[in-house]
Amino acid sequence: MSNPTIAIVGRPNVGKSTIFNRIAGERISIVEDTPGVTRDRIYAKGEWLTHEFSIIDTGGIDIGDEPFMEQIKQQAQIAIDEADVILFITSGREGVTDADEAVAKILYRSKKPVILMVNKVDNPEMRSEVYEFYSLGLGDPYPVSGSHGLGLGDVLDEAVKHFPDEEENEEDETIKFSLIGRPNVGKSSLINAILGEDRVIVSDIEGTTRDAIDTHFTSENGQEFTMIDTAGMRKRGKVYENTEKYSVMRAMRAIDRSDVVLVILNGEEGIREQDKRIAGYAHEAGRGIIIVVNKWDLVKKDTNTMKKFEEEIREEFAYLDYAPIIFVSALTKQRLNKLPELIEGVSMNQNMRIPSSVLNEIIMDAVAINPTPTDKGKRLKIFYATQVAVKPPTFVVFVNEEELMHFSYSRFLENQIRKAFEFEGTPIKIIPRRRK
Ligand code: GDP
Ligand code: GDP
Repeated sequence: MSNPTIAIVGRPNVGKSTIFNRIAGERISIVEDTPGVTRDRIYAKGEWLTHEFSIIDTGGIDIGDEPFMEQIKQQAQIAIDEADVILFITSGREGVTDADEAVAKILYRSKKPVILMVNKVDNPEMRSEVYEFYSLGLGDPYPVSGSHGLGLGDVLDEAVKHFPDEEENEEDETIKFSLIGRPNVGKSSLINAILGEDRVIVSDIEGTTRDAIDTHFTSENGQEFTMIDTAGMRKRGKVYENTEKYSVMRAMRAIDRSDVVLVILNGEEGIREQDKRIAGYAHEAGRGIIIVVNKWDLVKKDTNTMKKFEEEIREEFAYLDYAPIIFVSALTKQRLNKLPELIEGVSMNQNMRIPSSVLNEIIMDAVAINPTPTDKGKRLKIFYATQVAVKPPTFVVFVNEEELMHFSYSRFLENQIRKAFEFEGTPIKIIPRRRK
């Protein structure tokens, strides 16, 4: 199920990214450590009370060379297309501007819930500045201060009221997956080829409220799948769809909704930076991952070509050492019939539970082979471990001191668990916790 989505709109300099960063949950991740990603983060997850949501800063999606007014109109359109609730940000320092009025008009027509925020109201004396904003016709303006973090709680209280009702855990038997990759790697061709296989029965194609299109199908052995749409797959002909920021944002959203992500690479072109960024996000999000090298028909091969390509992938995507790699061609359909099985296998691995007794045997054997590390004369002690979650499999390891569990040791434990169990395709998490 997808999270409810909040989008932020408004003209430049009103404080959109300041507010975005306040609302977005702090999250250190490899993806965001990549230079150029932290700086202009536009998509994140947040939490308020018991609600989890996604948040988009449309101000970060620049639409090429369009004139200023056109850009902010497009951004407002993105918000309308993607969000359940829109935060429209203005500035109490500058008052109502023409650009604010243009945005207000578009939002008003959309009938999406809009919360009008007047930012930079840094102290109570400035609260009278908000009255002129009633003229925008979007109801009560909320005075806030992004830089001081004031008033945002009231805004979020209001925002969550507009979230769609949480659906029941619908069709649990269906495996949700998406194809993620740069433009032209062959995503649409692969989809058509997969759905065109004789043995696949497409049951329906469903347009959801967010204008995304999910396709349901059943494989030969009766397994149900839901294929989640991403931008670039079914082009809707909107200007902003071709911008990189927008397609990355759509890819992240599709990953959030998926159980398993197929990272599509172009066999002819090799690996690019954007491939790594998206794959990193899928890994962080704990999704199952399969690396699919497409256009294999175009690659000149000798006996070592596949092996070399594999080595390159292992090197470039070091943290994805658990992900299976498959070489395919949408054109010749080579190995495409293997994909449903592979996805199903990864999904099973994501849902696997290891009994505590077996898990603890593995851990104790691991400690016997490779003694726990010491730090400043103190040795890590492991008392016991237990699996606390699936999707991804998550293990809590009770220890004397959490800080003594170094990354490399936790990695070693992970490898020992992987040696004993088939966790191909799924990340696993190991969380050290001090025993009380
Ligand atoms: P954006 O272009 O809409 O994303 O705006 P930014 O978040 O980059 O903010 C633009 C400028 O306004 C920056 O210099 C911020 O420090 C400043 N700013 C943001 N929020 C506030 C606020 O609540 N009060 C004041 N005084 N300045 C703010
Ligand atoms: P998307 O942007 O990722 O959806 O990529 P498309 O599916 O639109 O494919 C981009 C181009 O690559 C099209 O011209 C396809 O015909 C071509 N293409 C896709 N897959 C293959 C393949 O496996 N082999 C060959 N030779 N061409 C392919």
